[in-house]
Amino acid sequence: MPTRRSTDGTAGERLFETALEQFDAAADLVALPERTRSILRTPKNEIIVNFPVEMDSGEIRIFRGYRVQHNDILGPYKGGLRFAPYVDLGEVKALAMWMTWKTSLSGVPFGGAKGGISFDPREHSRGENERIVRRFTHALGANIGPEYDIPAPDVGSNAQSMVWMMDTYLNAGSSTDRQNTRRVVTGKTIETGGSLGRDKATGQGAAFVLAHHYEQINRDLRGQTCAIQGFGNVGEHSARAMARMGVKMTHVADHTGAIANTAGIDPEALWRHTHEAGGVAGFDDAEVIDVEEFFAADVDILVPAAIENQITEARAPHVRASVILEGANGPTSVEGERILIDRGIEILPDVLANAGGVIVSYFEWLQNKMSSKWRLNEVDDELRRYLWEAADGIEAEKKRLACTRREAAYAVALKRIGTVFDQRGIWP
Ligand code: NAD
Repeated sequence: MPTRRSTDGTAGERLFETALEQFDAAADLVALPERTRSILRTPKNEIIVNFPVEMDSGEIRIFRGYRVQHNDILGPYKGGLRFAPYVDLGEVKALAMWMTWKTSLSGVPFGGAKGGISFDPREHSRGENERIVRRFTHALGANIGPEYDIPAPDVGSNAQSMVWMMDTYLNAGSSTDRQNTRRVVTGKTIETGGSLGRDKATGQGAAFVLAHHYEQINRDLRGQTCAIQGFGNVGEHSARAMARMGVKMTHVADHTGAIANTAGIDPEALWRHTHEAGGVAGFDDAEVIDVEEFFAADVDILVPAAIENQITEARAPHVRASVILEGANGPTSVEGERILIDRGIEILPDVLANAGGVIVSYFEWLQNKMSSKWRLNEVDDELRRYLWEAADGIEAEKKRLACTRREAAYAVALKRIGTVFDQRGIWP
């Protein structure tokens, strides 16, 4: 069975400790001044809202939602909303901190935030989901805003959730400048102001990062094989984008189980199946395998694109892939990473590999602000440019500091933030 997350709050706190540990190591590397370090170790705002929602049965239930605004020195807070039963404050704090590094590294003018609601959207009707999202938006009130804090989708939320948030925000506010506040959220449907290419942006971006790596090592991506954990937004779109580059997907795992077919699994056929069946289990054209077999699959590229803490100390010794492309946030534990690096396995870290989502979110926000519309090829070209520039910066820093790729990514991100803190100072 896939690893289940506990709901007692300890898993989230552990994740935040991991985020702090990674931060401390990178802060040492770039000799970040103590005052900047202490500011960045603590999120600026931690918001918890408890709000009532009427169920279809007429019963009233209280839900708990979170928004953690980690840092906004580089621009408005930006980050996704996670809808899952295990969502807790620790997890949201870790994810918010990672967003700060990601936006800085990507060169988009945003800070870092993250949020969520502890509930399972799959256990609720469409009507209940809508009322939960709208009441959450109302409870957040002025804590979000188009120039202040801009949510986006993450695990369990989607474009429809963003449209409900936008509509609630516009209707509840007193602004006469309503159309101009559509950019209070990104990841919307195209019809309501979303950007072409936003839906696939994270997966497409991961594939661009992989292509950059293969160019660096002078190898052809064509004919390479991959295993993907998670076949949601990131997993599906990275599968499709990698297939366009000639990579064959042979193993897939999600919350319903794991499957394999060495002849290749067609992303389109699997997408149709998961759409109907709710997961990869029961897919005809593959055999069922154990989740541990999945992590030990004989493939070139392993893409964890589901949840955190999957490539652990226990699994890392068995990984046979030579490249880990981190589609998910925090999929590799600190101990797991040490083992992978000792074994010479290349890690393309989450902070770069899944930055495509926030970069195209920035393009959506810009298009809304300018009332303009970019073509898909313009979005993709710009996305590749941003990611390749960030990847070049990381490779240069990795060489200079003789450190891991993740540390180099953090170093680039922290230096940028550190410089702005130095120039702006601390008021008063
Ligand atoms: P999603 O909800 O669309 O899909 C999640 C996938 O993970 C599903 O296939 C689900 O079956 C699988 N999954 C859930 N629990 C699992 C478990 N215990 N074991 C195995 N598989 C499990 O979510 P998503 O948007 O694709 O996000 C996936 C990851 O990528 C998350 O870590 C998220 O933070 C990160 N991410 C997403 C975006 C984005 O734009 N969507 C951007 C950056 C990072």
